[in-house]
Amino acid sequence: MATIHPSADFRSDTVTWPTPAMHEAMAAAELGDDVYGEDPTVNELETLAANLLGKEAGLFVTSGTQGNLIAALTHAQRGDEAILGEDAHTFCWEAGGIAVLGGITTRPLPTDSRGRMALEAIAAAIRVDNPHLPHSRLILLENSSGGNNGAAIAPEYFESISTLAQSHNLSVHLDGARLFNATTALGVDPTAITSHVDSVSVCLSKGLCAPVGSVLVGSEAFIHQARRHRKLLGGGMRQAGVLAAAGILALKTMTQRLQTDHDNAQALAQGLANIPGLEIDPAVVETNMVFFNLAQDIDISPEHLIKTLRADYGLYTGGYGDRTLRAVTHYWIQRPQVEQLVEAIRTILTRG
Ligand SMILES: *Cc1c(COP(=O)(O)O)cnc(C)c1O
Repeated sequence: MATIHPSADFRSDTVTWPTPAMHEAMAAAELGDDVYGEDPTVNELETLAANLLGKEAGLFVTSGTQGNLIAALTHAQRGDEAILGEDAHTFCWEAGGIAVLGGITTRPLPTDSRGRMALEAIAAAIRVDNPHLPHSRLILLENSSGGNNGAAIAPEYFESISTLAQSHNLSVHLDGARLFNATTALGVDPTAITSHVDSVSVCLSKGLCAPVGSVLVGSEAFIHQARRHRKLLGGGMRQAGVLAAAGILALKTMTQRLQTDHDNAQALAQGLANIPGLEIDPAVVETNMVFFNLAQDIDISPEHLIKTLRADYGLYTGGYGDRTLRAVTHYWIQRPQVEQLVEAIRTILTRG
């Protein structure tokens, strides 16, 4: 199969390749055995992430999925229950790992159009101490909310949940796979949000362009236990500084340019909104994700549209559910590619 260049790939920001600066940093990285704690580049990344997110310690992990799983295993025991949104990534897209591997039951709650559970619903879901019941232990949150147009959720939500969680002795983990997209859109420092949760994982490999990896941060004691769980899951990597070197640039430089991706997503949304037969409200596009629907009366299936974009224009988009498509902007996508995608979709819908 031919290589798909990320400049033609709107399916996700996971498709991003490392930047030229990252390739250089990876080649020059100082290395050691990270399972022995001796890789200076990994250690630097972990300290940097902890500082940026206002926590005591950090842990470089293989993926966002692994970061969330390690966090859940560290906060909760078998028979404990985690409260989370019914459209949360951890509930929908992580192979049920916290239940399969952690014996942690899930209590999915409805969310609003921004991915927020109602505070009263969370309070009502916290179980009393009764031998018939699982033990409420953990609340899992997500920001930005991938299942809700990438909505950026403001700090107040996290503050109110923190108060509730503390009063019931629950821990709070934030799946911040795209936290920096959220904080960029909100114009707040990451700590305005992370100060209200016990642990956070952020993906280095999405819009931040590192090839592999996430970082999990929390207290010293939490990360000490998390390190054991990473090993247990097979996530102890050796000369991982090769990867961490890209992660350092991801955190230092790539977090500073996300507004460009958001502007491109907004331009894309506005372009698509002008095409008859598409349903999209540009106002809901706050970060780098653009979801749009094919109207019911359009005689083209989403599969046909996606296939034709690939075959005739070399452009890649994702399909979600019934008549929904997704296009995500990132470092490798610039305004000309956005305009190209809009025009290609207009042409296909016009000619049928
Ligand atoms: C991508 C993503 C993850 C998982 O990250 P992987 O590195 O793909 O395992 C977790 N949560 C959210 C919200 C994500 O978007």
